[in-house]
Formats: sequence, structure tokens, C-alpha cells
Amino acid sequence: MSIAYLDHPACLRHNMGTGHPESPARLYAIEEQLRTLMNFMRHYEAPKATHQQLARVHDVNYIDQILNFNEKQGATYLDPDTVLMAETPEAALRAAGALIHATDLVLSNQHQVAFCNIRPPGHHALRAQAMGFCFFNNIAVGVAHAIEAYGLERVAIADFDVHHGNGTEAIFADEPRVMLCSSFQHPFYPGVGADTVSDHIINVPLPAGTRGDEFRDAITNQWLPALHEFAPQMIFISAGFDAHENDEMSMMCLQADDYTWVTQEILAIADKYAEGRIVSTLEGGYDLQALAQSVAAHLEVLMRI
Ligand SMILES: [Zn+2]
Repeated sequence: MSIAYLDHPACLRHNMGTGHPESPARLYAIEEQLRTLMNFMRHYEAPKATHQQLARVHDVNYIDQILNFNEKQGATYLDPDTVLMAETPEAALRAAGALIHATDLVLSNQHQVAFCNIRPPGHHALRAQAMGFCFFNNIAVGVAHAIEAYGLERVAIADFDVHHGNGTEAIFADEPRVMLCSSFQHPFYPGVGADTVSDHIINVPLPAGTRGDEFRDAITNQWLPALHEFAPQMIFISAGFDAHENDEMSMMCLQADDYTWVTQEILAIADKYAEGRIVSTLEGGYDLQALAQSVAAHLEVLMRI
């Protein structure tokens, strides 16, 4: 069975300015790198998420603030790095909608695996606040859809972006049907995550300079036993590639083959408990070459080639 690949041209039109690392060039670089792999994927255009689907994880007044943005207001800084502009509402709706459609494709058995090549990313977005390049928490929208529309009782999120998935954690902190496994550089932006105490939030803070073998040990010792215990019915991946050695956003030292390894481990859990069901979505990754090569490494595992 081929894997589903979701994107939308609107995700390319949200542009926070020359020199901003979270740029449309990221999606182009990935698309170019995946050209030879497209035969193993079926392409879908992302629909817009509905207000109701967003409201499962976001405050309705916050949703309206984003969607009712008027271009006469001009570009608006929601935080020092996160700029709301005329093209943002549709891009954010398509990014969240990609997760909805990916979840539908996987849970209706049309595909075992789906990958969303979308932006803006989502894992820093809180219920009522944009943050760190993120507007809507795309992965949380997808996970809530799997729970509310399909009745899943155990859904796992694996987040290997170099930054802590603080928005995702805040949204699901009191939701025992969701296990969040996050690995991240610490201390580092957004400065939280190392002190969380919860049996369904598995945070793995890693010091600057962490190499691939140390990353693998930490995942093996902390994520994998928790995931085996939880036995997820479906796994979502916040696939950020900014822990790559060449990525200037962080001081971590992962290589593309570390993303191959962690994807293999996640896939093995999915095969054992979740009928192989995985929805992966792009989060960070800012060195264009490292990003594109790491996404390809991630997807080659998910394509089982
Ligand atoms: Zn990141």
C-alpha cells in the first residue's frame, strides 16, 4: 500500500519575511528531494480544517482572532517570531486540515501511513496563543479527530523536533488517552518540559552537543518502554529535523541516519500494536539540505523500501 502525501499551495504563500527561517523554501526543498520517491506516494491536497475540528483543541475566540484577520491590519506579530498576515489564515487552516484528512485516510484503511508536508508548523501552539512560528496545533487537531470521530482510546505522539512540544503537552496534559513522547535540547527554547511529572507525558531533555548514539540510548531507555506499556492504537509523529548537526537553530548533532533509526523504532511499535498506522507531520528543520535529506530518510522507512 502506498503512503499518502498531503500538501497545499496555500502553505507556500504564508511568508513571514526575508531571512525568516520558517520559510516557504523549506517545503520546496523537501518536494524537490522527494521527486524520485513520489512513485511510492499518493498525493492529496489538504482540505481546510473546520471551526468545529479546531475547537476540539483551541479556544473559539483564539480561532476567530486568526481566521478574522483583516489584511488592512497589516502584518501582526503574535510573538517576536510569529507573524500573522493575509496569507496566514488559509495556510494554517490547510496545515491543520492536512492532519484531519491524513487521519481519515489512515483510519478508513485507505493508507497505512500518511505524511503531511505542510507549514506553518504546530507543536508550540497553545489552546489560545500562537507561539514559535505556530498558529494552530496541527498534530493536536489530528489526534483529537482520531479520538472524537473514531473513538480511539490510546493515541501516541512521538515528537523528535529539537524544541519541546510545549503546546501539544499543554493541550493533552489532562488527557490520559494521549501519550506524548518528546525529545528536545534543554535548556533551550521554549524553556519548559524538563520538570513535567506525568505517566503519559514522556519528556526526554537532552544537553547541547548530544550525538546520535546518546540520542538513541535516551529514546531506547525512556520512550520505548513507555510506548510498549501504552500499546497505542495509532501513532502521530511531530517530525521536526532541527536537531540535525548542520541545523543552525540548535546545538544538537543528529544525522540523517538517526532519523532513519528513530523512524524504524516508531514503526516497529506501530506494527506491534497499531496495525502500522502512522500519521507524520512536518514541524521544524531549517537547514534546507539537511531537512530535505532527513525527510527522505524518514519517509524511506515509512515506505518500507
Ligand atoms: Zn523546532
